[in-house]
Amino acid sequence: MAAKKSSGAGRRVSSIERILGRLDDLDSANLTILVQRLARERGLFEMLFDTIDEGILVIDSTGTIEYANRAGMRMVGLRGNETGSAILWKLVPDLARTLDFFGEDNLAPNIARDAEIFYPEHRWLRLQLSRISLQSTEPARFVVILRDITADRESTEEMIESERVNSIFTLAASVAHEIGNPLNSMKIHLELIRRKLAKLDVPAENTKSLKNSVGICLEEISRLDDILKNFLGAIRPQKPDLVKTNLVEIVIDVLGVQKVELENRNIRCSMIQASKELPVVLGDESQLKQLVFNVTKNAMEAMQDGGSIAIELYCDEEFVYLRVKDSGCGINRDDISKIYEPFFTTKNNGHGLGMMIVMRIMREHGGQVGIDSTPGAGTTVTLQFPKPGARARMLPPTK
Ligand code: ADP
Ligand code: MG
Repeated sequence: MAAKKSSGAGRRVSSIERILGRLDDLDSANLTILVQRLARERGLFEMLFDTIDEGILVIDSTGTIEYANRAGMRMVGLRGNETGSAILWKLVPDLARTLDFFGEDNLAPNIARDAEIFYPEHRWLRLQLSRISLQSTEPARFVVILRDITADRESTEEMIESERVNSIFTLAASVAHEIGNPLNSMKIHLELIRRKLAKLDVPAENTKSLKNSVGICLEEISRLDDILKNFLGAIRPQKPDLVKTNLVEIVIDVLGVQKVELENRNIRCSMIQASKELPVVLGDESQLKQLVFNVTKNAMEAMQDGGSIAIELYCDEEFVYLRVKDSGCGINRDDISKIYEPFFTTKNNGHGLGMMIVMRIMREHGGQVGIDSTPGAGTTVTLQFPKPGARARMLPPTK
């Protein structure tokens, strides 16, 4: 709406469209005017795109860069005369490596990754890649949006410490803490009642149902206590206690907890260990469980009438991967860039904290999250952990 009203460029484009509709009637003088006008429009849009901080590239399916704005050129080290010939994957092999998490040739329509690149300089880029096809007969093209998140990654406290998140978490943590105290007191008093009931000089039959109720209350309190502990654990930036952990065991434990929900939702769930080597990582067991729980829970919630979740674990020379592929609703282009934001949710009763926690835990483990999604067909979340003992990649010497 706003574009229609306020943008002169928008108005002129539509007048160009009108002229284009009458292209056959144009004489050469008018054609020249039209071409000049188009060139001016292009110049204006290029100028606009060049003022944006995000890098914007358009590539074809081979990775050839068809267009790059100024920030994009700087981020990938592209020189002006290379547009139209340079191949993004050759220019920045680290981006290709990131996208090639799974060794799949066909890229999903919507992809989000954080990529560490070492050329043209050492930086962290948040990459969003979306397929754009003006007509279905056209060869596939992709728009790549790059955001420089180096400052975020480098600050030790990272995203979680950003002011907004931090204040909300401090508040949530204090509320949770405050709930803990009355819970504790209720527990003590219920224990007292239980003891007094046991000592009462009446037939056991008479107190049976009362004892039963007290027992249920105590169980529920301990459940609430667990929820609180988990919640506090999730939001307090805690240093992970890293020990060698086999991810297969973590997945089995989490699926055990989710078994009933998986059955109720009529979801088939499979797990394969795709490489001979055990998927062992240096990780904090409870944080890893929380991580997998959040990812598989989202996969379940993405499916309305049953479906499948395929979990695959594998290793390459440098990394250990845990990949969760669901056949759910998928994530659309507008949402994929928001899913790590605190409180972003598309669910009626969602909290929008799960993916933020996933990202936080992965970062604390030196790992990365990758998301590939096809709306209507499903989503694949790939968790990439550094392999214990693998040689760290060498950074080029700092200038
Ligand atoms: P919540 O699950 O409470 O909504 P999350 O942070 O876990 O919060 O997820 C944020 C949003 O990301 C979800 O509401 C959903 O829109 C999207 N999402 C995450 N994982 C998936 C998935 N596997 N399939 C489809 N959408 C997903
Ligand atoms: Mg969730």
